[in-house]
Amino acid sequence: MALLQISEPGQSSAPHEHKLAIGIDLGTTNSLVASVKSGTSTILTDENNEAIMPSVVHCGKDNKLTVGCEACPYAKTDPTNTIVSVKRFMGLGYKEAKEFKNCPYQLVENGNNVLFHTAMGDLSAVQISSGILASLKCRAEQSLGGDVVDAVITVPAYFNDSQRQATKDAAKLSGLNTLRLLNEPTAAAVAYGLESGKEGIHAVYDLGGGTFDISILKFSKGVFKVLSTGGDSSLGGDDFDQLIIDDCINELSIEELSPLQKQKIKQFSRTAKETLAESDFAEFDCIDSPYRISKDKFEKMAKKLVDRTIILCKRAIRDANVDVSEVIDIIMVGGSTRMPLVRESVGDVFNKPVLCSINPDEVVAKGAAIQANILVGNKTKDDMLLLDVLPLSLGLETMGELVEKVVHRNTTIPITRAQEFTTFKDGQTAMEIHVLQGERELVQDCRSLGRFELRGIPPMVAGSARVKVIFQVDADGLLSVSATEENSGVNADVVIKPSYGLNDKDMERMLKESILFAEVDIKTRLLHEAQVDSIRTIEAIDSALEQDKNLLDIDMIKKITEARDELEILSTTEDKDLIIKSIENLEKVSAKFVEIRMNKSVMKAMQGHNVDEF
Ligand code: ADP
Ligand code: MG
Repeated sequence: MALLQISEPGQSSAPHEHKLAIGIDLGTTNSLVASVKSGTSTILTDENNEAIMPSVVHCGKDNKLTVGCEACPYAKTDPTNTIVSVKRFMGLGYKEAKEFKNCPYQLVENGNNVLFHTAMGDLSAVQISSGILASLKCRAEQSLGGDVVDAVITVPAYFNDSQRQATKDAAKLSGLNTLRLLNEPTAAAVAYGLESGKEGIHAVYDLGGGTFDISILKFSKGVFKVLSTGGDSSLGGDDFDQLIIDDCINELSIEELSPLQKQKIKQFSRTAKETLAESDFAEFDCIDSPYRISKDKFEKMAKKLVDRTIILCKRAIRDANVDVSEVIDIIMVGGSTRMPLVRESVGDVFNKPVLCSINPDEVVAKGAAIQANILVGNKTKDDMLLLDVLPLSLGLETMGELVEKVVHRNTTIPITRAQEFTTFKDGQTAMEIHVLQGERELVQDCRSLGRFELRGIPPMVAGSARVKVIFQVDADGLLSVSATEENSGVNADVVIKPSYGLNDKDMERMLKESILFAEVDIKTRLLHEAQVDSIRTIEAIDSALEQDKNLLDIDMIKKITEARDELEILSTTEDKDLIIKSIENLEKVSAKFVEIRMNKSVMKAMQGHNVDEF
């Protein structure tokens, strides 16, 4: 993932017509909507002037859906029908969703998908999420005084294809058109206008309600590139709340809590934590007993959580191959970066004060709105579009269980790449297209994204079919693959929506392994290529012998057959050089045969034609 400046694709818009477009930060805990008004990115508030909309959805009786602040009280009174962190469930299968600890919801298995059993019926994460988006859309329309359709929606950098697709599906369901999904750190960088600043390295530290993300960006020659990303998808403000919950239960020696009491303490603890960002003490009544905590005590407990983020920061810096001193700005994103302990600790690592002049809750939505404004065509000459790059290469399985890369990692998206393939056997009428992701040479070491078959290829001699495979990656990183046999026009395609996600750690592992095993991989690749070559040569000889054995004398047939059999045996060994020599030998002994056949077919082709034609 990297940001890249490109020139604007002349979207037509009348000179003074201002199109409405919004940026949405669809957060785990809180969501916001922003729009560019009179040239300034502005957060849109509700009728009570609230900017933050809690990402809470209550699915009540009589089909009554309540979203945001109004839904929050239900988290205490009706927890099973009140979904509070639906983003965590986006794009997950049933099995993955079941792994969440302390999940208060009744999850229902629906094929590979998961549904929430609520008073409104069984609902998917996409449906619930669309409730939040629809509510933000409505807020925007009231605030801007017109229909709003076009939106840029932000997603965490670690979101995989299925999570991104689920986000787009939710947008569609809510009546929004997704102009672009934008990575959250990218949006923050845009909000700070880093692309108009000096060249150098920037860090984006995002500690939200349930997730932590660190990204190291490099800005150079008008291009933002993400040098590295890291994070923890299960570390955020909620864990800091838990510290207070645990301390409260411990201090007051509470034995057992009803679900309702649990929810209450959770809410109180969060408020206490937020109070401690500005006060030295916080207190609340917990089941009729007063509880009080000092900032000192809280920070002592919180230190180990903050330290976990610091370790991840240091790792990201190392992965980016830069020195801490090279980092110019450290952008603070996410409500949890309001904690002074966080700002100080992060500042200490980078040896300079952190950037927090833009409200850390609002910075992502504001950046998204700036992008939306450009994408919809309200732009000034200096505005730039930002593009991402592919984090891992995409390719196809070829003979010998090898992977042929079609789009390489770090390629700027959106992109369309085509590559031609051919059939391996005479008369082959179908071809399996197996799409893979990763940097390694062998299929078994890459990640399978999906497969489909191209059928109905007219029978032809091996190697004469021309199958054009087109990879198309859209601006949101979603892949579609199509295959067409060029002579006959038969076509098949697939849109890849992988059911199992890749997280940052998997990605990191795949990249590391590709470097670690590079040498072994190349050797294996060469061996497999030699083996494929030998099979192809044997098949060609077999087919030639079958057709034209009569052109040869016994001695020649014997020589060719011997060489062929030798190759067949050697082709299963691990010795690449031996295989190549044996192929060359077979080619040598059958050279005469090839020549005779060639003459025969030339003669045949010339029959009935005037010599002048040639
Ligand atoms: P997300 O991106 O996950 O939706 P946000 O960026 O909105 O999350 O951050 C929400 C988190 O920020 C919550 O855990 C909330 O308690 C925390 N938060 C908000 N204000 C403060 C504060 N003053 N001090 C500490 N934490 C805060
Ligand atoms: Mg956030």
